[in-house]
Amino acid sequence: MQNPREVSQVIEPQLVIEGAGVLLRRSIAPNRQNLYDPFLLFDHFAFNDPVEGPIRGFPMHPHRGIETVTYMLEGSVNHRDSLGNAGLIGPGDVQWMTSGRGIMHEEMPRRGPDGNIYGFQLWVNLPAALKMSEPRYQEVNAQTIPAVEREGVKIRLVAGEVYGKRGPVTEIAANPIYMDVEMAPGTQFDLPIPTGHTAVAYVFEGQGLFGLDENDIGQTVEAVHLLVFGDGDHLKIRAGEQSAVRFMLMAGAPINEPIVPYGPFVMNTEAEIRQALADLRSGNFVKQ
Ligand code: FE
Repeated sequence: MQNPREVSQVIEPQLVIEGAGVLLRRSIAPNRQNLYDPFLLFDHFAFNDPVEGPIRGFPMHPHRGIETVTYMLEGSVNHRDSLGNAGLIGPGDVQWMTSGRGIMHEEMPRRGPDGNIYGFQLWVNLPAALKMSEPRYQEVNAQTIPAVEREGVKIRLVAGEVYGKRGPVTEIAANPIYMDVEMAPGTQFDLPIPTGHTAVAYVFEGQGLFGLDENDIGQTVEAVHLLVFGDGDHLKIRAGEQSAVRFMLMAGAPINEPIVPYGPFVMNTEAEIRQALADLRSGNFVKQ
């Protein structure tokens, strides 16, 4: 490994209101420019302030052409969908939903015992060949997510490989890495990431030095920010000397296809978006 990835962009999350009045921090949103291919969207649910009032949620809504990945740290999300699935995504659980040609679902966040809701939703694009595939869920409960600890770096591995372990979510088109990384003060983490893959980190606690180069010069970043890394074959991060740091790390192969996002749909052409809307209107969106 000789080509370190440096920080190329630091994104300040924006507060947005989605669903039925849910306030969240959004770092990236679906856009025709597709700058973070294969990643389309990254949202951070953090309802930790009572002034935000009652928690509403995301009543029944459709998706087509994408995968949505929900990872909760505190609180939970009650969900049900048009395939007949229903359940609770609790702390440490992950739901990896491949919408394929169409799914209707409801996602209702609930506060945990301390009154908090804390979690993330990532959208990953699907290649044209899979946009109209059968919908699929991979539900992974907290106990089955491997926790790897080495030299003060604690990793919960959802997808991809680290230190010879593999995350439980597999057969995802973008061959992604998705992990929750917690680094004690002064520790260092060096991860190979295939050249050409997009790599992004969402720093949500503490601070650290990201994208160290061969001279160990990097960029100090504190929570809460989304970082985009330039190309290279590995990524080196060091926690602050006095401060731990925690972040979600995601990487994946770009799909390199044009995209046309429209609300909860991301297709390749405008005609396919019109088709999705027509299927919704005619009741053919979800295959019976
Ligand atoms: Fe949804």
